[in-house]
Amino acid sequence: MSTSTTDQIAPRRPATAVRVGGVVIGGDAPVVVQSMTNTDTADIAGTVAQVAALARAGSELVRITVDRDEAAKAVPHIRDRLRAQGVAVPLVGDFHYIGHKLLAENPATAEALDKYRINPGNVGFKAKRDRQFGDIIELAVRYAKPVRIGVNWGSLDQELLTHLMDENAKSAAPKDARAVMHEAIVQSALISAARAEELGLAADRIVISAKVSAVQDLVSVYRLLAGRCGYALHLGLTEAGMGSKGIVASTAAMSVLLQQGIGDTIRVSLTPEPGGDRTLEVKVAQEILQTMGLRSFVPIVAACPGCGRTTSTVFQELARDVETMIRERMPEWRKSYPGVETLNLAVMGCIVNGPGESKHADVGISLPGTGEQPAAPVFIDGQKAMTLRGPNIAADFKDIVEDYIQRRYGRGTAPASETRDVAE
Ligand code: SF4
Repeated sequence: MSTSTTDQIAPRRPATAVRVGGVVIGGDAPVVVQSMTNTDTADIAGTVAQVAALARAGSELVRITVDRDEAAKAVPHIRDRLRAQGVAVPLVGDFHYIGHKLLAENPATAEALDKYRINPGNVGFKAKRDRQFGDIIELAVRYAKPVRIGVNWGSLDQELLTHLMDENAKSAAPKDARAVMHEAIVQSALISAARAEELGLAADRIVISAKVSAVQDLVSVYRLLAGRCGYALHLGLTEAGMGSKGIVASTAAMSVLLQQGIGDTIRVSLTPEPGGDRTLEVKVAQEILQTMGLRSFVPIVAACPGCGRTTSTVFQELARDVETMIRERMPEWRKSYPGVETLNLAVMGCIVNGPGESKHADVGISLPGTGEQPAAPVFIDGQKAMTLRGPNIAADFKDIVEDYIQRRYGRGTAPASETRDVAE
């Protein structure tokens, strides 16, 4: 019933499409969700397990660290084990300092990876920098692999920054230091991309990122980049942080840019709790795109926050149960019921906003608040369809949702609303 509107989102900035394995970044493709492992890549079993978990959570590309020979040698085995498990997610190799050497000495790794990520600030210093950057680009050309040129302000090319600072100091109208830093980040990415093209890497093999750790800096840098190139852009706030801070900062930065049509692939860089679930970054990235109306991944549950009118935990428990049901049932639903990810559900705590919000959902329930009749009206496609009563409201509501999904997405048509009472 409820639909999100994307009318206010600027059209996506046209970006050159880049194919990475079976995934397309840029062009007309939807914004791609990607993630990165935090295992030691030399630990083949651990890395395979985490890549598979990230892919199953919905990551469409997974990046792995390739920092030494042992890690590089593990890559083809990781790729083979994943394919044997039916996990076809493209793998991106993350290189710093010695990527040129690792790729040259491990041709099976150069072949097994679907994309290379290099940081122009970390490929070497002074005379070595250009040579080593060139070596990696030539390997990418030889193996027909795309490259992400990923600038990070924590490892920005200091020669370029110093040069721009000096030029700025001599200028009649000098900019503030932050603006010069933004310009240095953008120039580092674009100079490197131009050099990669000179070395034979086509524009449809180049993705650019320019990561910073503050929201307003990220917005400024990507606006500059978007106006000055047609390369596909990878968005992400680096060092976003832990818990809600990391989620909020990433969401704030990326939402502003996505609203302006900027960004072809996103990664949410969260610092996990020790032993925490790495797939949270995939969930957050999907939720950013889905709540903005850009893509649909899983049915959305609207739930009110609760207040003094809900003195029991019934509605909190039902909202949680419905979320759990979605998570558990989604692998099967996705196969059997195409389009189920666009479903909208509502679980509301009382009569104040319950019926109204529930009518906007495909299936919604308004639970009784304190002092209300112990009855829970259920709305289907905007119409009151039934009233649930008794101790089995949660189980009955979940059955109603399953039934709706089977009838709507199993046949590809929405069910006619019906009126019936349950457990009266
Ligand atoms: S719908 Fe009812 S219970 Fe939920 S927040 Fe509003 S007034 Fe409170």
